[in-house]
Amino acid sequence: MLGAMQDWDLRVTRIIDHAAREHPNREIVSRWADGSETRTNWAEVRHDALKMTQALRKLGVQPGDRIATLAMNHSRHLVSWYGAVGVGGVLHTINPRLFDDQLEYIANHAEDQVLLYDAAFQPIIDRMKPRWTTIRHYICFDNGQFEDWIAPEDGNAEWVTGDERDPCMLCYTSGTTGNPKGVLYEHRSTMLHAMTSIQPALFDFDARSVMLPVVPMFHAASWGLPWGGAAAGIKFVFSAVNDPAVLCELMNREKVTHSAGVPTVWLATFQHMDATGVTLPHLRQAIIGGSAAPRFMLERLMKAGVNVAHAWGMTETSPIGTTGARTWDWDDLSFEQQVDIKVMQGRTPFGVEIRCVSLDDPTQELPRDGQSSGALQVRGPWVIKRYFKAESDATDAEQWFDTGDVAIIHPDGNLQLTDRTKDVIKSGGEWISSVELENAAMSHPAVAEAAAIGIYHPRWDERPILIVVKKAGAEVSGEEIKAHLTKTVAKWWLPDAVEFVAEIPHGGTGKVSKKDLREQFRDYKLAE
Ligand code: ADP
Repeated sequence: MLGAMQDWDLRVTRIIDHAAREHPNREIVSRWADGSETRTNWAEVRHDALKMTQALRKLGVQPGDRIATLAMNHSRHLVSWYGAVGVGGVLHTINPRLFDDQLEYIANHAEDQVLLYDAAFQPIIDRMKPRWTTIRHYICFDNGQFEDWIAPEDGNAEWVTGDERDPCMLCYTSGTTGNPKGVLYEHRSTMLHAMTSIQPALFDFDARSVMLPVVPMFHAASWGLPWGGAAAGIKFVFSAVNDPAVLCELMNREKVTHSAGVPTVWLATFQHMDATGVTLPHLRQAIIGGSAAPRFMLERLMKAGVNVAHAWGMTETSPIGTTGARTWDWDDLSFEQQVDIKVMQGRTPFGVEIRCVSLDDPTQELPRDGQSSGALQVRGPWVIKRYFKAESDATDAEQWFDTGDVAIIHPDGNLQLTDRTKDVIKSGGEWISSVELENAAMSHPAVAEAAAIGIYHPRWDERPILIVVKKAGAEVSGEEIKAHLTKTVAKWWLPDAVEFVAEIPHGGTGKVSKKDLREQFRDYKLAE
């Protein structure tokens, strides 16, 4: 027997229908690379997306075809998300910061048919065109070209309908080892993820919120915000440039209440605020993820009255995995206790399950005791089952996906990431968390950025060294940093050496590239 409720398939075009119907005039502001600004709203975004489906059909695009974008955050990019999925296509957001070999690989592997791009990335297009074998149509978002392309259409069209398990979006992981791998999201998985993202315990936004997402639309679907934001009918403020002066100016003028970005974005914002004295009086909620938010960052935001959603996730989890949701006894906790909790990666919302298994024996599930650290696994309806075009599933029979992260789960459900399986440092048979060393180092007032890597050691197998970028004008010695570390880390964890550099390499998504650092320090010799 089946139940007796209506058929309402979970297709993401329903989200934009809802936004245009219930929040038609809610604004979408875009600040473009040339400094100009435009304003549109949810009703117009929907209308333009429908026009785009008509224009795509004229190009011969069929349901299932991949439609790629190479673009920063702005309203035309937003329109193209809904236009691409509305014609039944699969939106493929390409990260412009990838290397040429990766760009070649992913567009060809995805078999992209159409590419929409920002004029700023014209040099990439010129370079890559001969290497991209499947793209038939190139459409520039700028210089009136996107508008001219959809202008002949009237928007009097229907969204393509189909199964809710049809694919709607494709994102590639940056591939720190081997080729990038594609994660193929479904209408259903994306819709469930969007519905979850608008729970107050997650990002805490609603129709009154004004969101400036700094996290790019090409990075893990901008954490799902273009879908969830539409479902809640929020006002978006987009900036196609990530200059902190521009971001702060926009945040204050547009009264931005919510923003989202990786820790380095918040660091740059703080530096700008310190240099100019600018404050962000309207900001209420800071979403930080992608890598661990250091303690001082949380303290600073929380002291300013900003609630921090410190979130963990990955491209493979759409990306929401956990967020720093407040516990029932939150109001009874001291500020220090609250920071102790926020510095962890938070708890799962309904719809995500996590567990840790032993690093040495993956069949052994670890207790949630706040001490046992192991390989983090995850499952749920918006967690990957299989990589795009892969022959075998990435998950086991019970659908647990191995994240590559090392973590501890606390009795209250809080997840504490301690490292990535490939970054954790093994010294004399014991594990040292590179992340904890880095966080401890970054709490020193003279340290702008720090990264720890393992270096071969004949006796201990590996020993940590710490690579440090000093703050402009600050002076500090390696010994002083080590002395600072002894306050929070065990003595045998102390780095064997502290090396100062002008810059630490970052990968395509702005995270420290340990792979490049290891390469840089390949011939480094430690004293025995
Ligand atoms: P990539 O693997 O290409 O860097 P992702 O954005 O999918 O791309 O990265 C996911 C990884 O980022 C996670 O597996 C985890 O290691 C790290 N990560 C994400 N959020 C956090 C966080 N809040 N704290 C620490 N690490 C995080």
